[in-house]
Amino acid sequence: MAPAIFSALAFVASIQAGPTDSSQLVTREAWVMGTRLSAVVEAASLADASQASENVIREVERLERMLSTWDPQSEMHAINTAEVGQPVTPAPELAALLAEAERYSRTSHAAFDARVGALVDAWDLRGAGDVPAARELLAARNATGAGAMSIDERTGVVVRHMPPAWIDTGGFGKGAALRAAARGLEADGVDRALINLGGQLWAQGSAQKPWSVYIAHPEQRQRRVARLEVHGVSVATSGTSERFIEAEGMRWGHILDPRTGQLAPAWGSVTVVSADPVEADALATALYVMGPQEGLAWAARHPEVDALFLEAESGALAASWTGGMEQWLVDAPVPSTAPAQAPTQQVDTVRIAALERRIEAVTRELERLQLGRDVVEADSSIQGLGPAASKVYRVNQGVSLGGYGEFLYQNFTAQRQDGSRSGALNKFDALRAILYVGYKFNDRLIFNSELEIEHAKESFLEFAYLDYLLSDHVGVRGGMLLAPLGLVNELHEPPVFLGTERPVTENRIIPTTWRENGIGLFGSGEAFSWRLYLMNSFNGAKFSAAGLRGGRQKGSKALAEDMGVAGRFDYTGTPGLLLGLSAYSGETAQGQELGGQSVGGRVRIWDAHFDYKTRGWELRALVAGAQVSDVADMNALIGLEGAEGIGTDMLGWYVQTGYDVLRTSRSPHQLIPYVRYERVNTQRGVASGFSANPATDLTVTSIGAAWRPISQAILKLDYQIHSTAADTGVNQLNASLGWLF
Ligand code: ADP
Ligand code: MG
Repeated sequence: MAPAIFSALAFVASIQAGPTDSSQLVTREAWVMGTRLSAVVEAASLADASQASENVIREVERLERMLSTWDPQSEMHAINTAEVGQPVTPAPELAALLAEAERYSRTSHAAFDARVGALVDAWDLRGAGDVPAARELLAARNATGAGAMSIDERTGVVVRHMPPAWIDTGGFGKGAALRAAARGLEADGVDRALINLGGQLWAQGSAQKPWSVYIAHPEQRQRRVARLEVHGVSVATSGTSERFIEAEGMRWGHILDPRTGQLAPAWGSVTVVSADPVEADALATALYVMGPQEGLAWAARHPEVDALFLEAESGALAASWTGGMEQWLVDAPVPSTAPAQAPTQQVDTVRIAALERRIEAVTRELERLQLGRDVVEADSSIQGLGPAASKVYRVNQGVSLGGYGEFLYQNFTAQRQDGSRSGALNKFDALRAILYVGYKFNDRLIFNSELEIEHAKESFLEFAYLDYLLSDHVGVRGGMLLAPLGLVNELHEPPVFLGTERPVTENRIIPTTWRENGIGLFGSGEAFSWRLYLMNSFNGAKFSAAGLRGGRQKGSKALAEDMGVAGRFDYTGTPGLLLGLSAYSGETAQGQELGGQSVGGRVRIWDAHFDYKTRGWELRALVAGAQVSDVADMNALIGLEGAEGIGTDMLGWYVQTGYDVLRTSRSPHQLIPYVRYERVNTQRGVASGFSANPATDLTVTSIGAAWRPISQAILKLDYQIHSTAADTGVNQLNASLGWLF
């Protein structure tokens, strides 16, 4: 906790206290958490009251030892300085607090976000204050929030993703200390007490004898403008007029808007009353960031939140509050002093100040535009998409650009497995270069697309869809969608996976990149995510002995006689772990008939997958299978005979492991030797009257290494040993260069 430049305690102008008849009253003061703590405790005896007040101070000190971001001994400090990429599991009490902080950040849409450390540094809020240069601000913004540091809302497990990221406990620490102190009072059997921790209160008491609390004018602390009568609740006020920094001739508060990286303007104050001190603390900060209009609207949508907004501008005051606040409000503030009723000179000052703020805001907006508002680092995956494809979800608004690509060099051995000449010619291919273009219309409506050029000349739309978020957890999407199966189909950006080439299973059975037109639902919870799509099905007339790949319609004038259903469920509750199942079912004859009879050609595909990154290890395993029905008819439709028929049953699986040998070195680079073992058979079963080609029964072992100088660029080198049941395998040495941004 920062030693407050000036604590917010003057928000509470004064407090009236008086002991009940027979009880004894003890008042204690202490300097703790960088601010003043005062405790007024009533108890049956002086000794009891004194002991209880002592316990209050002890509890607050204990929380300070846990939460301090200054003290190198604190648990919070250890989390804030933990190795990047390494999940940290805090002790239960802190884990629960961090999970709560994460919840408020989610429900307030990041108006409250404890992960503002990088911005606190950029604005030098712990020093004299400084307006950061545009580049510096941009870097700090990128090192803020969920993309920079993840907090698991269920377990409180924290992972830092970027070196400058840290959690500032200033936004909920006082609340946490007050809650601990209030529990102590309860345990000590104290019925009546008032604790004031730097302006935030805990009022222990009863409706018969409530505490009177005065709220001060946000600009003139000595003026009382409202009176509350409270008991059994905490009262927290956030404002910027007392704690501030001065820079470039302007006054700035100490509350940041994590969504923009800017300091919240000094508009007044907001007071929140809640039975939970942590909620009061966090939401006062959140509502302050939202401002009086958006804040009041938010509070109105959350009836459990009681809030009072005081807007002040050069002496003029306007107040607004929620319905729930009325139960506490005894003397309401003058509802509003309209500028028109004020003396002319004051009106001018109000207007000039408002204009100044507007100009400042416009200047900052321009600064942001010049830099390109889409400068969001591609560093974390959202909704199962690759980091670069996820960018549009993380921009504030407007255009987002991203991309990825890879070059592949293949050097084939001259001889096949059986010793005969392979005849395979070495290749160097501009395999793919991709541009992601996204547009965030607002927080609910998002467009995302992937435009691809393959082999330097073939262009494809890989996906293009609109997302509409129905709530924080569920959304609908429509357009050209990536089938949600397997590991690589949705997450196919080369720096993300090991191996120069995608696994064969995820090429022939799950035909990556498999995309079709469709509509669907997607969603996530605390520890899982899911997707369910209705898409146009394959065109089975293009299947072959080598699998389903040829049947993709890729959204191009796709035959839609047959539709398919694809779904997926992943467990994501452990950091670094993705564990899930996916499946697909759809007929594929697309209206083709055989001798006047309709053909079904149903394809069922399923997969189970596992991906785990921990302590330098990257582990992956996948098994996928496909079953095709009416295969004899389908073969007849296509004209396939003998060993060339489509498999009725296909199976593929692989296991892969890699380890970053530079993990314990000081280098930020990663060097990951890896090995993958894979078996695929696309003719595990064939229709009666057909035979299987042993060349479709394939085993591939890849051994190689990947070098990642940063997480968005990769150079991979591997040797692949191919063997088939027909001894037709041709080994190859591959090198690939990949990037994403
Ligand atoms: P005070 O601590 O003065 O009572 P607040 O409860 O509003 O004020 O907390 C402000 C503190 O919270 C800041 O000093 C900073 O440490 C941290 N903070 C600033 N902006 C945010 C934010 N948007 N979300 C979470 N914490 C914040
Ligand atoms: Mg707060």
